[in-house]
Amino acid sequence: MPRGCRAPARIAMAAALGSLRGLLLAAGPAARPARPRCCLPPPGTRLLRQSCRRPAGPQPGPEPGQGGLPEGVEYIPTRKKGKNPMKPVGVAWYSLYTRTRLGYLFYQRQVRKARERYPHGHSVSQPCCFSGVKILPIPVLSNNYSYLVIDTSSGRAAAIDPSDPLAVQAAIEKEGVMLEAIFCTHKHWDHSGGNAELCQQHSSCKVYGSALDSIPDLTNPLTDREKVSVGCLTFQALATPGHTVGHMVYVLDGEPFGGPPCLFSGDLLFLSGCGRLFEGSAETMLASLDLAMGLGEDTLLWPGHEYALECLTFASLLELDNPALDQKWRWVMQQRQEKRITCPSTLGEEQTYNPFLRTHRPELHTALGLRQGAGEHPNAFRARVLKEVRRRKDLYKAP
Ligand SMILES: [Zn+2]
Repeated sequence: MPRGCRAPARIAMAAALGSLRGLLLAAGPAARPARPRCCLPPPGTRLLRQSCRRPAGPQPGPEPGQGGLPEGVEYIPTRKKGKNPMKPVGVAWYSLYTRTRLGYLFYQRQVRKARERYPHGHSVSQPCCFSGVKILPIPVLSNNYSYLVIDTSSGRAAAIDPSDPLAVQAAIEKEGVMLEAIFCTHKHWDHSGGNAELCQQHSSCKVYGSALDSIPDLTNPLTDREKVSVGCLTFQALATPGHTVGHMVYVLDGEPFGGPPCLFSGDLLFLSGCGRLFEGSAETMLASLDLAMGLGEDTLLWPGHEYALECLTFASLLELDNPALDQKWRWVMQQRQEKRITCPSTLGEEQTYNPFLRTHRPELHTALGLRQGAGEHPNAFRARVLKEVRRRKDLYKAP
């Protein structure tokens, strides 16, 4: 394994960054996290409860604590020790996880441990509502999000990636809705493990996903761009390979409700991050990310994991002077101090700080020491940039 991420220069840079943050945080009101744009209702949208509403009253500014984080805030790591996909053992582990029963047993253990550690979920969730639609993020396992999307006029609902069936069923019962569809972004157990149990409890529920991805209990395979209605809601499936060969994202059409499009991105795209390239090339992932970005800047991003703090910290090591990134980092820090969820962001916001969406930016090229070759196609160069960012992220471990 290359040791680039542990090089003294990188450690020094991280320390310097910590000092810079200290100065910024000590600067007082100007350094306070601003209310993110994702919380502002899009034109014509009636938000009944704002998904990222800040509590009233003065907010304590974050202060540098252990490892540069305030007390009570912890990184949610994107990978555990020994699960580095860059190492042969990581490749072997991935093969066992996806192709044998060991994967399912590992998932069951994950569920058990997470229920013990987080009896009320790893994060404090808040529903996001606009006229006729309610989106309920459900924190499951140690860092996943499932979602319950409800057509409030008919009480019909769809679940996205219901990995812990107990948590999703509890939400269904609390909301008093009928589960009509499960949309599964990909085959990994932490996104699909609850399909069977929920289908047993909801006999008319269909499971949608790509036939390319061996999704457990799949009943209705979807092709690229296919649309599915659930009550008054319309979802469109988009094939977005890269993380897995059959990865799909789902886009809820917000227009009939006067709302923005909602992207349920699974492991394609996270706040300031993207999924690992387990089953695809950087070129494939770049095309999938470009496809998602075509949905428009006001699109709300609902990712499959709570990785925001770690991903933003990593991004800030690449771009030392990006005010949008610093502002989001401070806001996310505050959210995590209160164990609050950090989604949704918007695709417009993501373009300002997510390095995987900034492969065209000269400042990122300079940070990575990459230059476009003579005659190299711009997209081929962007894929090379994406590959390098991904490589560094795979090696990165939060302090
Ligand atoms: Zn995955």
